[in-house]
Amino acid sequence: MLSSRLRGTPFTSENRETPGPVRAIMRAMDLDHDACYRAIVTRDRRFDGRFFTGVKTTGIYCRPICPARTPRRENVRFFGSAAAAQEAGFRPCLRCRPETSPDLGAWRGTSNTVSRGLALIESGALDGGNVAALGERLGVGERQLRRLFQQHLGASPVAVAQTRRVLLAKQLIHDTDLAMADVAMAAGFGSVRRFNETFQALYGRPPGDLRRSRPAEKSATAAGELTLSLPFRPPYDWAVMRSFLAARAIPGVESVTERSYARTVSLDGASGALFVEPGDGPFMRVTVRFPRLASLPAIIARVRRVFDLAAEPSVIGAHLSEDRVLAPLVAARPGLRVPGAWEGFELAVRAILGQQITVVAARGLAGRLVAALGTPVTDARANAAGLTHVFPDARRVAQADLSAFGSMPRARLAALQALARAHLADPLLFTVGQDLDAAIARLCAIPGIGAWTAQYIAMRQLREPDAFPVGDVGLMRAAASLTGCRLCADKLLQRAERWRPWRAYAAMHLWAWLADDGLRSSLPNTRDTRKRSHRIKAGDAHAQRTTHAHRAA
Ligand SMILES: [Zn+2]
Repeated sequence: MLSSRLRGTPFTSENRETPGPVRAIMRAMDLDHDACYRAIVTRDRRFDGRFFTGVKTTGIYCRPICPARTPRRENVRFFGSAAAAQEAGFRPCLRCRPETSPDLGAWRGTSNTVSRGLALIESGALDGGNVAALGERLGVGERQLRRLFQQHLGASPVAVAQTRRVLLAKQLIHDTDLAMADVAMAAGFGSVRRFNETFQALYGRPPGDLRRSRPAEKSATAAGELTLSLPFRPPYDWAVMRSFLAARAIPGVESVTERSYARTVSLDGASGALFVEPGDGPFMRVTVRFPRLASLPAIIARVRRVFDLAAEPSVIGAHLSEDRVLAPLVAARPGLRVPGAWEGFELAVRAILGQQITVVAARGLAGRLVAALGTPVTDARANAAGLTHVFPDARRVAQADLSAFGSMPRARLAALQALARAHLADPLLFTVGQDLDAAIARLCAIPGIGAWTAQYIAMRQLREPDAFPVGDVGLMRAAASLTGCRLCADKLLQRAERWRPWRAYAAMHLWAWLADDGLRSSLPNTRDTRKRSHRIKAGDAHAQRTTHAHRAA
């Protein structure tokens, strides 16, 4: 059971993280039977996604907010994850629909290995491979990996993968008009037979019987298009996410409006497009136009990564608020997320193109690279949104003659091709690896990628919540204004120690603060800020040229 399992969990496991926030998370997850029961009696939304309730008399498991009558105290068991409930033999409730519960990354603070393992499973590592291979990628043995999953999630890696497939299939049955064979394919089941058997065993009926005919609720599906809701834990700061993505959108590949983000998609040899907009509740509405249904889990995993849907803002905010400098920033933007990247190579190319030039100039260069080397996309809706190409892959960039391409210094062109070759040599270069330091070292070994770029890639592509773009001019400027004293890169790094293991979120808060004139002038302890930051802004370009540190990527 959750409480007894977690109570014996040591706070410092394999991951060298500071104990403070870990304790906070453990407190958040260390729910005893009484506390959990109180939460389900009051249907307390704050616990949604943190635990699930198995009802012994019915064999069903529920979210804490389930509208059904609360079962008797002695008839429930509590689980830390849907997979644990499912592995214990419970099946998902048809009323509160665990598949629509926010999928939290709360365990991030307790085990980096589990967190990375989950990311790999989410992108399909166990659909083709096995647990031993997964462990190898994470740098731990199979037994150790099973032990860690058991300890932190109460379920085996295979049960986690299986639960993901079942819940996605269940959502597709409910939310779309896809034929059952297509649902099986799109949810990552190897075969329709396996899909049918799984649902028969779990729900006691064939999957088709779970489809209720309420067409009004379903997405009006155009041919080859499906729309899904991806939940998150509120609050969510769409404004900052939107403007961050808009400023860096690559012409022809991405398009951002006030209420939407759209981009072309190239995956598993097929191409298409997707459209994301905030829903009218705690979820994103995602429309996918992609010919290969089997790629859907990977596409969903990437959307969740770009929009940081697994973050638990209350836990992160509580920790960062312990620093008086960050506290007012967190209070002003409690729903801030770290914008992820769609694809590592694209992000890294974009970062190299942006070295020592402005964000706007970098966008222009990226757009020209795409027009010259990208593959055209013919999709009416995508074209109408200004999406014309998929981003060129590493092979294309490695083989292209870049000398005719723009007015870039020769070293930068060489860096682009070195990056492309490094990615061809190591296809896993941009996937979650063994740990942050190893990932940074691997990236820094590529000519043209320095510490800043490597940390930036770790932050946005590898989803390392503790990545921190060292030496960033914007961060130093923000920290100087907020603390009232100039901080060199080393001093800032020292200060950032107390922000661990959420330094990426601290960086986002500082960047967002810097970009928000209204917020800057409203904080009493930074009265002098406007003048000061205007002065520094004027010197920005110079600072970027001289320090190699910038935030143009
Ligand atoms: Zn329920």
